[in-house]
Amino acid sequence: MRCYCCSSKSFDECCEPSIKGDKHPSSAEQLMRSRFSAYATAHYQYILETYTKEKQQGLSVEDLAQSAQGATWFALKVHPSLAASSVDSLVGNSVSSTEDSSINSTVHADAKVEAQTNAEPISKTNLKSISKPITKPITKPNNAIVEFTAYYFENKSMYQLHETSNFSVEDGKWRYHDGVLHDDCGKIKYGRNLPCVCGSGKKFKQCCALKQR
Ligand SMILES: [Zn+2]
Ligand SMILES: [Zn+2]
Repeated sequence: MRCYCCSSKSFDECCEPSIKGDKHPSSAEQLMRSRFSAYATAHYQYILETYTKEKQQGLSVEDLAQSAQGATWFALKVHPSLAASSVDSLVGNSVSSTEDSSINSTVHADAKVEAQTNAEPISKTNLKSISKPITKPITKPNNAIVEFTAYYFENKSMYQLHETSNFSVEDGKWRYHDGVLHDDCGKIKYGRNLPCVCGSGKKFKQCCALKQR
């Protein structure tokens, strides 16, 4: 079975090992995908555990289950455009696992720090901080941004949730912190003959529309 997160992999090779606790997601995007799949399969304990510690404090499994009640999450689209064009190096790293892009993006991040520092009045302290990033060892960033649209049915209507989310690494594991919702969130009408939002290549009416309830 194709994974709930609409990747090209099967559930047991994609999100299931993360949800079961057998494997930690290797990137912010993979964590986001696994959280979507956890919503689709009602694994609210996993949703709770993958929030940052700060956010976990105000939440409970019951709250999460209740807020998700009635919604059938059926498709996810990760927006690659943001990753490709964004100045934020962290996004670039989150969509790629290659070492090269990690190094490039880290260098990029340092350049950004320099640019910001340069904007301040020049003083001895500032000069010191300018030189700092150059000597800093290259490490993987601890924050990432992922933009996605998640689709769900509720009361026989179709909805989309379009969010840009912030992720952080805590204790070596990716965690979801918070997100900004885009203006196009809410109820949508989607043509039954259009290609399905899940990317299966089938018409919507012959694919995810069949899950509508
Ligand atoms: Zn998946
Ligand atoms: Zn579909």
